[in-house]
Amino acid sequence: MIDFRSDTVTKPSPQMLECMFTAKVGDDVFGEDPSVNELESLAASMFGLEAGLFCPSGTMTNQIAIKAHTQPGDELICDKMSHIYQYEGGGIAFNSGCSVKLIDGDRGRITADQVKAAINPDDVHKPNTSLVSLENTANRGGGSCYNFTDIQEIKEVCLQNNLKLHLDGARIFNALIAKNETAKQYGEIFDTISICLSKGLGTPVGSVLLGPKDFIKKARRIRKVFGGGMRQAGFMAAAGIYALQNNIDRLSIERDRDLNPGPQGYEDFLIK
Ligand SMILES: *Cc1c(COP(=O)(O)O)cnc(C)c1O
Repeated sequence: MIDFRSDTVTKPSPQMLECMFTAKVGDDVFGEDPSVNELESLAASMFGLEAGLFCPSGTMTNQIAIKAHTQPGDELICDKMSHIYQYEGGGIAFNSGCSVKLIDGDRGRITADQVKAAINPDDVHKPNTSLVSLENTANRGGGSCYNFTDIQEIKEVCLQNNLKLHLDGARIFNALIAKNETAKQYGEIFDTISICLSKGLGTPVGSVLLGPKDFIKKARRIRKVFGGGMRQAGFMAAAGIYALQNNIDRLSIERDRDLNPGPQGYEDFLIK
């Protein structure tokens, strides 16, 4: 039987398990786990970004990014179906004390004009707009992906208005394959990127937050506050290294065979 509910129900292959069994580990809270360090720098280098932070979940990488990019009372802009808004337990309010300007996008995708119109004026009555978050592929959009030129236009608006740009890239590799794009293009345009290893890439657990060195230093402190500092996490990181090296190409095999339930989560099947 093949379980089509979600790409999150996969179990590690024998090869991935072997890498986990034989991983070199240490205490990652001390920064001493060689496998975690290797995963973080491998993921960062794939996107041409300076540093990475291994976390237990994509919810945590997104929430840490939001916390690090904002001040309480700020407002962020995202599509109305965004995972960060719909499926992270109200974490934007709870963790960061921020409000959200929701945009009525096209299957989870928003435009530069919509972002521009959603930015608050410099007025004491209004929350300060400080962050834009995009999702690619868009989970509730049924796996829709952006055209890169649309992201470039959004980036222009962000630069003109001093806004940071975060990517919830839980399934960014599905988008890269679908659109024939490169990870480096994304690293050049986004301030921070969250990638999930436990979705299409098939690891049991884990996500990585990517960004500049000083940002990741700040993020590491927030991860500890959130309770996400793990000790011998290298057993999990080893699965992530295996996945980044072996499972990205396999996404196109799934797509071509039409075996992939779609780059989407089980949410799509449960909530309609
Ligand atoms: C799954 C997912 C996440 C993170 O989910 P976790 O279950 O916390 O790892 C974030 N964004 C999107 C779009 C997702 O599909």
